[in-house]
Amino acid sequence: MAKTSIFDHAERTQEGLKLNGFILHQIVEQCEGCERIHTVEGERYCSSYPQPAAKWRHGACNFATHVKADMDKEGKVKVNPLKASKRAARGR
Ligand code: SF4
Repeated sequence: MAKTSIFDHAERTQEGLKLNGFILHQIVEQCEGCERIHTVEGERYCSSYPQPAAKWRHGACNFATHVKADMDKEGKVKVNPLKASKRAARGR
């Protein structure tokens, strides 16, 4: 039996895939690797948010399973603290 998901309730409309009244937008680059990504007919959507891009606009997505979101003092996201510290060590 096929695995059921919330996307079973999604419907194809002219505007795109629609779920619970929201038009779903496909995931963004930053979502790569997140466990909440679901593939529907070859397109990839987030099972938590209809607009993944909006979740990354002001920092890392707080539901992401693949990154530990960290903000620095200016509110910028530090997704890879290791690289940042190496750069700091080189004095840049
Ligand atoms: S939970 Fe966040 S990071 Fe994961 S797919 Fe959804 S929007 Fe992207």
